[in-house]
Amino acid sequence: MKLDVLIFGGGGAGLWLLDSLGRAGYSTLLLERDALGTGQTVAAQGIIHGGIKYTLSGLLTESARAIREMPALWKSCLSGHSKPDISDTRVSAAFCHLWRTKSLSSQLGMVGARAGLRSGASKVTQEHLPGVLSCCPGEVFRVDEQVVDTPSLLESLADRHRNRMLKIDSADGLSFDLAGKGRVRTVRLLNPTDDQTLELQPATVVLTAGEGNAELRESMGLDGQLMQRRPLHMVLVKGKLPNLFGHCVDGTKTRATITSSTSTDGLTVWQVGGQIAEDGVTMTETSLIAHAQRELAAVLPGLDISELAWATYRVDRAEAKSPGGSKPAGAQIDQQGNVITAWPTKLALVPELTKLIMDRLDAPTCAASSKLELPPDWPRPRVAMPPWERDRQWHGQS
Ligand SMILES: Cc1cc2nc3c(=O)[nH]c(=O)nc-3n(C[C@H](O)[C@H](O)[C@H](O)COP(=O)(O)OP(=O)(O)OC[C@H]3O[C@@H](n4cnc5c(N)ncnc54)[C@H](O)[C@@H]3O)c2cc1C
Repeated sequence: MKLDVLIFGGGGAGLWLLDSLGRAGYSTLLLERDALGTGQTVAAQGIIHGGIKYTLSGLLTESARAIREMPALWKSCLSGHSKPDISDTRVSAAFCHLWRTKSLSSQLGMVGARAGLRSGASKVTQEHLPGVLSCCPGEVFRVDEQVVDTPSLLESLADRHRNRMLKIDSADGLSFDLAGKGRVRTVRLLNPTDDQTLELQPATVVLTAGEGNAELRESMGLDGQLMQRRPLHMVLVKGKLPNLFGHCVDGTKTRATITSSTSTDGLTVWQVGGQIAEDGVTMTETSLIAHAQRELAAVLPGLDISELAWATYRVDRAEAKSPGGSKPAGAQIDQQGNVITAWPTKLALVPELTKLIMDRLDAPTCAASSKLELPPDWPRPRVAMPPWERDRQWHGQS
């Protein structure tokens, strides 16, 4: 089967690209080794950042510059006015809150955030202050950063392209015929459920497999070390909690970033990230939960944390290698031969990543992808389950 573009990996980046290429007339197929979004997208907090996190020093950093157009672009796609039309994605919150603690560094961070942000932060009046933030010192701001429910985003993007994606066994059912380093001539697939084979001849291969990019690059004769992993140890809190979306600022850091979802048992789940998840990397689950309980008491004074269930999960952010292992400023791609490797760096930057990739492609040459005839009984990937729905042990308050 001849193809214009073969995509490896169906997280937010691969699925957005698949949709965009289809609309532009490219014949495209996406291969996924697990469930869609396994790894980062389904574990993410879903905040469509506009740069607030990167302006806490009061300067408009490279990161803030790269990301500031994204909220408006996403808003337009989420309302169905721009493509991809993702209007059936659940928007968990239309905006985030920004608040501080009593500490001096926290006060300074808030000043920095307001100076660095050109627009988009407005002071929340007393009558609109969420109850859970009512005991926080100082002013509370509202930032125009929408929060999307990432499983529903993945569903929305995947739903209309089921006929253009296959599940693969990347360990035993995938091999490459190379014409040189990064020059993929043929990709051979073995059906994970029977001995059917499929041979693909893509003009271009795009890797949007998150941390799977390293291994795929090595199979194609490329350097797998071009990627870095930045670990996080996130906290989950479940119970009768109010919905809360936002960041508690401390100096140039976000001391805690909290987003909310509803679990299938009808309870609210908070995903707690920010500095708590960075610090948690060296902690055990038990010590991180104890730390998170102290931190939540400090950043949300007055919050009753009795009768809540606590859990944690570890996840790596996969990004292009950057000096000193710091976060790359924007979406990153690398092209060698006919292989493009791509890392969005942030979910919010997926549209930017798609543009960078599409700018590198030649015009479509193959028949439109709608005409792709895929084996009907080949398994198709499903969307991954969010971390709080997976089998895990929940702990009571220590
Ligand atoms: C805890 C956490 C919170 C975050 N919060 C935010 C946030 O609030 N806002 C924001 O903008 N960004 C956030 N991010 C960053 C964001 O999640 C990522 O930048 C983005 O989701 C990466 O998407 P991706 O599609 O490149 O990778 P992934 O989502 O990791 O998807 C990769 C896909 O490739 C598949 N795959 C892997 N190997 C192979 C293979 N060999 N063959 C085929 N398929 C393969 C995987 O199964 C997966 O489906 C967060 C990240 C983390 C970890």
